[in-house]
Amino acid sequence: MKKLEETEPRFIADAHLGKLARHLRFAGCDTLLFREGSDRELKRIAAAESRILLTRDLGIREEGIPIVVHLHSPALREQLIELSRRFPLRDCFRPFSRCMVCNTPLRSISRDIVGDRVPSAVAEHFTEFRECPGCGRIYWKGDHYRRMLREWENIFASATDRCGPGSCAGSNPDGSTPP
Ligand SMILES: [Zn+2]
Repeated sequence: MKKLEETEPRFIADAHLGKLARHLRFAGCDTLLFREGSDRELKRIAAAESRILLTRDLGIREEGIPIVVHLHSPALREQLIELSRRFPLRDCFRPFSRCMVCNTPLRSISRDIVGDRVPSAVAEHFTEFRECPGCGRIYWKGDHYRRMLREWENIFASATDRCGPGSCAGSNPDGSTPP
């Protein structure tokens, strides 16, 4: 049996990591956001659904749950780099496939049906649309999509370039990227 780290990762993020959850969903990763409840409930869901638990709370330990990732950095970009190094996010990168708001897989919707649910300029300019069956949001590959895509390309590049602490000769001790 493959280790959890080697299969397509599914996550559950604690309530403080909403932005991280949205970015992971953009990348196509199945990511629940645990909005409220006890740590015990959070761990129960992680265990029941074999989800990797993402948190910055060192009080949440790995007892009885598959994996807990304590993200070191408070910065979103660094958190995403950290996850990209540990899990095969690049292999399962499928942007435009999951709702960033509610995590539901998106389905294609034709331009004719989209009609007045998007601004008229958008309906004229874009040909491909997806709809969230969960919350009804419509997605298209506009500025936001392109910005997120660039952000992720950047994250994958940084995750590959820089090695872990102490494992890479030539990396700066402070972890910064050489010019
Ligand atoms: Zn949705």
